Amino acid sequence: MPIYEYECADCGEEFEKLVKLSEAAAKPECPNCGGKHTQKRLSTFASHGFAKSAGGSIASCGSSGGFS
Ligand SMILES: [Zn+2]
Repeated sequence: MPIYEYECADCGEEFEKLVKLSEAAAKPECPNCGGKHTQKRLSTFASHGFAKSAGGSIASCGSSGGFS
């Protein structure tokens, strides 16, 4: 059975769920708020933990010269 990732539109909860192929079209309830406004996310091939916070820190080399 594949694992699908879902995101709740109500509370923003993200969760994974083992889904049978016969149930793949059904939307599961959000485990956090019980809402049904969940949507399947494009599966990010088992890369847990990563992504999410790919913050760019390209503003750390300022203050070059300049008398004040
Ligand atoms: Zn929710």
